[in-house]
Amino acid sequence: MTGSDPKNRPVAANDQAGDTAADEKVVHWGNALPRALPKGLRSLNLPEFEAGWVWLVGAGPGDPGLLTLHAVNAMQQADVVVYDALVGEEILGLAREDAEMIYAGKRGGKPSPKQRDISARLVEHAKLGKRVLRLKGGDPFVFGRGGEEALALVDAGIHFRVVPGITAGIGGLSYAGIPATHRDTNHAVTFVTGHMAGGNVPENLDWTAIAQGSPTIVAYMALSHLPQITQLFLEAGRPPSQPVALVRNASLPDQTVLETTLQDAVKDVAAAGFTAPAIIVFGDVVRMRAGLDWMGALEGRILNADPLGLKTQDEDSA
Ligand code: SAH
Repeated sequence: MTGSDPKNRPVAANDQAGDTAADEKVVHWGNALPRALPKGLRSLNLPEFEAGWVWLVGAGPGDPGLLTLHAVNAMQQADVVVYDALVGEEILGLAREDAEMIYAGKRGGKPSPKQRDISARLVEHAKLGKRVLRLKGGDPFVFGRGGEEALALVDAGIHFRVVPGITAGIGGLSYAGIPATHRDTNHAVTFVTGHMAGGNVPENLDWTAIAQGSPTIVAYMALSHLPQITQLFLEAGRPPSQPVALVRNASLPDQTVLETTLQDAVKDVAAAGFTAPAIIVFGDVVRMRAGLDWMGALEGRILNADPLGLKTQDEDSA
């Protein structure tokens, strides 16, 4: 690569010799870091967090075991960690003891920091030559405003790296025993946000088209608008008896799952006192849970090997 303007080239600063991972600077763990990765992982040559860079890192849905090695590597090198509400204490505990920890989420009913203030903070710390880790729940690019923050970095000429994370709408559902796709129920899945900054359901979404075209719909930030969303889906013709599952605190020790139907969802959520954060999945794939609730099985649930009631399956049909 020959580009010299970092504004237009916010990727590896040390890649003049080429673009391959082998050309990246690597950390020589030795005594260089306060807490080195376990011996077997050192051979992976995970990248060095360079001073003045920002890494946008996904922390997954909550279970620390769902962090990527890149995320752990980042935590162990960062000077500053700017984290969101959905990132738990155990994960934050992986940061260096002397790292500056900055909370950038909503707390105690106070308004959340403005997005541009968070972006400005990332830029400010990076310009001071800090290694800035922006840690977000799930995946930074899935309803996480990672794109906006990254563009602010591009605008300021700051180098950055993106570390994907396991998103709640896939990994969170797995912890409830619900696959995002399954060939007997759905070959497609749609991820939607149920919440706009202004507090309404997103008006720029064609809810009817989604309801009619997508067998499985996974909704983030949708709990407070569940009455509107279920109504929109019913009006669009989805069957009232279609299964719906809500997973609260997915992958965390207090994970709770509520299985209901489109017509009963609002009533059942109220009766259960179900609260956010929850991921909601609409579609027949929810029935798979009777066979795949592996966490329930750990507590004695008997799993059904034929949850959809299909006696025979043609293994060859895709
Ligand atoms: N970037 C995140 C999503 C952020 S939006 C990701 O990729 O997962 C926040 C929403 O994500 C929450 O309102 C909820 O719908 C969902 N969410 C995130 N973590 C969750 C968890 N552990 N359990 C259930 N829902 C979760």
